[in-house]
This record gives sequence, C-alpha cells and structure tokens, in this order.
Amino acid sequence: MKSNGKGGWKVAKFGGTSLADGRRIAKVVDIIKSDPKRRFIIVSAPGKRHAEDEKVTDMFAHWARASTEEQASILELIYRRFKSIAVQLKLEIDIDALFDQIKKDGGALKHSENRFYYFALSRGEWLNAHIMAAATGFTFVDAAEFITFNTRGVYDATATAERAAALKLSHKARGGVVIPGFYGATSGAKRSIQIFPRGGSDITGAIVASLVGAAEYENWTDVLGIRMADPRIVRRAKKIAIMTYRELRELSSMGANVFHEHAVAPVRAVGIPIHVRATSAPQKMGTRIVTGISKPHDVITGIAGKSGYSMVTLLKYGMNDEVGFLWHALGVFRHLKINVDHCPGTVDSVSFVVHASELDGKREQLIEKLQDACSPDAIRFRAHLALICTVGLGLADTPGMAGKLCSALGSKGINIEILNQGGSEINIVVGVKEEERETAIRTIYDAFVG
Ligand code: ASP
Repeated sequence: MKSNGKGGWKVAKFGGTSLADGRRIAKVVDIIKSDPKRRFIIVSAPGKRHAEDEKVTDMFAHWARASTEEQASILELIYRRFKSIAVQLKLEIDIDALFDQIKKDGGALKHSENRFYYFALSRGEWLNAHIMAAATGFTFVDAAEFITFNTRGVYDATATAERAAALKLSHKARGGVVIPGFYGATSGAKRSIQIFPRGGSDITGAIVASLVGAAEYENWTDVLGIRMADPRIVRRAKKIAIMTYRELRELSSMGANVFHEHAVAPVRAVGIPIHVRATSAPQKMGTRIVTGISKPHDVITGIAGKSGYSMVTLLKYGMNDEVGFLWHALGVFRHLKINVDHCPGTVDSVSFVVHASELDGKREQLIEKLQDACSPDAIRFRAHLALICTVGLGLADTPGMAGKLCSALGSKGINIEILNQGGSEINIVVGVKEEERETAIRTIYDAFVG
C-alpha cells in the first residue's frame, strides 16, 4: 500500500535535546510555524541541556524508584524544570495543575508495580506535549487515547488504527495536533500506561505518520542527517542526502545507530518518506529515506561495522556433491536456537558467522552436534571478528567494486577473513579482526569517498 499523502500533511517529531529548555523549544515553535503543512507534532521529553545534565525521563525513572521521602524532592526538581520552560516561553499554562494531576494519577497506582514505573517514565513526554500545545496553539491529544498495547505489553497496530479512526485523528490536521511520544496504553478494562523502548518517540512519530497518511515523516534531531560512517571513526564523514529503506536496514543491522526497526516499519509499509533533519539548521536538507531511487547519487551510501562475531567453519572434501549438507548443518543451528548472520562458502568448506552473544554457553554443544550431523573432516572456530558492511545501490551496477574494496584493505595490511556479497548486490560484507575494525572502516571510506 502506498501513502496517498492526503492533504500533504507532515508529521514532525522533535527529539529531547531539541526540546531541552525554553530557548530551544521557541526555536522548534518557529520551525513548526514556518511550514503550514506541519500539523502533527510528536515530542520527546526535555533532554540534556549540557553534558552533565539529566534527561527528564531519567529524572522520572529516579522518582519512580525512590523512597517515599525522596520522591517529593525529585518531583520538585522536575517541576522546576517545567516551570522555568513555561516562564521562558511566557506561556499561560497551569504547571501546578499538571503536577497535581501526576500526583493524583500516580497516587492511584501501587509504586512497586511496573504500571507505576511506566506511568512515571511517560510523564516527561506528557508534560512537554502540554507545553508545546500551549506554545503553538495546537490541540493536545494524549497518546494513551489511541496508541494501544495488548495485555502482554506488545504494540497492537490494529487496535491503534481503530482507536485513531474513532478519535478522527486525521481530521484534526487543520487545527494542528501535539502528541506525546514514547507511550500508549494497554487495552482492556484495566487500562494502564505502557511504554516503547527508550528513544521510542521515533516509533510514535512513525505510527502517527502512517495513521494520518502523511506526505512525509520529519524526524528532527540535533544532528544534520545520517552520516556515511560513524563520525567518531571518520571525523568528516559526509552526510547521506538520500537512501532507501533497504540500505538503511543493511546499515542498521550492522550497528549504525540510526533508527529502531519499529520506528521505520510503519512508514516503510506505506511508503512514507522519512526526513532526518537538524533543528540547528532548519534551512538545510538532512537525510531523506525513501522507497526507491531512480539513480543513486554515489556508488556507496554508507559503511557500518560491528564487533563481537564468531565464525564456525566446516571442511569436508566433496561437500559440494553431498545433497543436504547445508540443511543438516543449519538444522543444528536451528535446534540450538542460534541465529546465523552469514554463511559464505567454497566447494569444500562452509562458514557460519554468528554474533558471539548467540553462542553463550552453547559453543561446545554446537561443535559436538555439527560433528554428529555432518561428519566433517575438520571444524575450525574463530572468535573476535568484526563485520563491516559497505552499502550502496550503486554497488550493483558498477563493476570492480568488491576488488576495489579488497585491494584498499590489502594495501593497509588488513586481512579479510570473510567476504560476502549478497545476491541483491547492494552490500559487501567483510570480516576482519576486531582490532582492525576502525582502520578498515576508514580505509573503505577513503577508497570510495576520499
Ligand atoms: N524520553 C524517552 C527517552 O529518553 C523517549 C524518547 O526520547 O524518545 O528515552
């Protein structure tokens, strides 16, 4: 299903650092007002104002876990933060009444239960959405009214869509809407607040974008888009102008800390583009993530790498003639519930690359069972490998790319332990020693981007 972009509305999600104090919120209000299409606003709780500061969500987590004597003073600190935001923005908003509501609703819950903890964690977004609604003149719509989880705490897309339709969420665009991110409520008679994983306001934004058929999902942060490589490794890594969901997925699976999979799935399913932008440079385009690109900008889109892999290799003369050899081997992994990431091979050998966390306490058993199931000539085990994934739609139709990558690594004396290019040809994965991970990423970046 494709998004129809009804009305061309944009859903804009703003992260905690961009909303950390009154001055930054005022800037966000200007951004919202500068485009009449931005009608659905999702907010995080205020984040850190400086390196030593505490995020409001963490303050609420302390509040939830503190003793009754300590709770009052922690809540007082949070109250002061919101009070100062309201004063800075000269808002006519009754902060005292909002905190009275928190005390009342929290007081009705048993403090030792998870229900209270989730309630507490969600209050930063709830308060900040009230602030943003007052600052923009938009309507506050509580996420608990439509974002629904089942009784086991799993997000329920069907129930969410039904409740959003009953609320007529998409009809509220004209007046503008502010929705707190990060939480919803469980279904059933005993409704209670349930949260997404930390950083989950991104998920709320994607869900709302899909519910209202947005033309674009803007994700506003404090950095200008997604970089081609981790800037801690490649300091001047270029910003990615545009990429596809498939490329994003390849990079994320290899450790590029971009979006939680759940924050992409709702918009990818209906083809709504994501635009990652910076509140510090609203006039600049960030990174656009789209379904398809007719012609890629660059040969490669990005490089990501992750440590902590192990490789089990089976060697057997004549393996290629043995029908079902791989089936037997993979059956062992399946039986032991070990997820295999890659499976490169030759005529007489096959390797299984797995993340070390998958092998916890199972290594001996795995080797034994592989021995029984496959009767190999030898089994080799290698640990402490890093996988580096170079991704780009352009890799598919440019000859010599794998050769270029390998010779660049060779020139730096980096030995390639694994080489794997998927059939879709949009990625090349190499395995190197963990200690060579950063140098390998820099080397590949220099070879392709310069
Ligand atoms: N406030 C929550 C957190 O700190 C959720 C979010 O910011 O997206 O994780």
